Amino acid sequence: MKIGFIGLGIMGKPMVRNLLKAGHELVVYDVIPSNIEEVVNSGAKKAASSKEVAASATLIITMLPNSPEVKEVVLGENGVLEGAKPGSILIDMSSIAPLASQEICKACAEKGVRMIDAPVSGGEPKAIDGTLSIMVGGEKQVFDEVYEILLQMGSSAVYCGEIGAGNTTKLANQVIVACNIAALSEAYMLSARAGVDPKLVFAAIKGGLAGSTVMNAKSPMIFDHNFKPGFKVDLHIKDLKNALDTGHAVGSPLPLTALVFEMLQTLHSDGCGQNDHSAIAKFYEKVAGKTIC
Ligand code: NAD
Repeated sequence: MKIGFIGLGIMGKPMVRNLLKAGHELVVYDVIPSNIEEVVNSGAKKAASSKEVAASATLIITMLPNSPEVKEVVLGENGVLEGAKPGSILIDMSSIAPLASQEICKACAEKGVRMIDAPVSGGEPKAIDGTLSIMVGGEKQVFDEVYEILLQMGSSAVYCGEIGAGNTTKLANQVIVACNIAALSEAYMLSARAGVDPKLVFAAIKGGLAGSTVMNAKSPMIFDHNFKPGFKVDLHIKDLKNALDTGHAVGSPLPLTALVFEMLQTLHSDGCGQNDHSAIAKFYEKVAGKTIC
């Protein structure tokens, strides 16, 4: 099948490569030419705009930073809706505000384009392995039509409800991950201050109730001060802001999220916005005046 793909960053590039491996023909676009060249070298074809991508494929996937970029790419000048044929399917796999998904879906429907929101969890390693967890909102029939293609990028794709439900699920995921990294950092600083090696704490407790995928992935990064992204502080600020806005809109309290959001904002102000989100540990190190390891 011919698939259009827009947004060739940390996640988009390996997702394109997995679709190529599955035998699809890919037409791609990004505003950064070097990102396009990387996937063209892997066998994708280059387009000059999002409009051109949409004109040459009936299934279009977007993997962009946030709601404003998805709106620009889909609704804007030289965007997807200027090029898409009626009946085309748009799968937005970016993590954006659920309300933005609903707004974009409505504009798509007016042009006869069917859209689902399908954000992912798992980060770059799982994007490379093709084992992302995919959470989907939109028409169930569209989900069923593209299910096999989603599984060429992920190990699971779960239908969560109407348009926006995928992104609501993703916000829940991001709240849990951010609070988990903050709890890890807080606990490792406690043990370091009390004179117990945090690496031994990790080894002792990772198999117990406190153990988690987040603990296994992020503890070594915190210990080694390896904050190469992965998932950037600035992207997590974006997700928590979307979570707080959504919480305010639906009347759900998010006190822990608000606290970790402020920690991430402090890191951004300190010039760490492009660090991996495990750099939340640096917030604790700054406040405690001591490194964890
Ligand atoms: P990224 O910043 O590495 O990539 C985004 C890409 O979009 C860039 O290449 C950028 O040039 C391109 N882009 C921006 N505006 C554009 C436009 N107008 N037209 C065309 N291209 C444009 O981000 P990423 O890490 O790949 O994340 C993408 C999405 O996936 C985000 O919503 C993020 O929250 C989500 N996500 C990321 C991870 C992760 O670990 N990196 C994990 C899960 C979900």
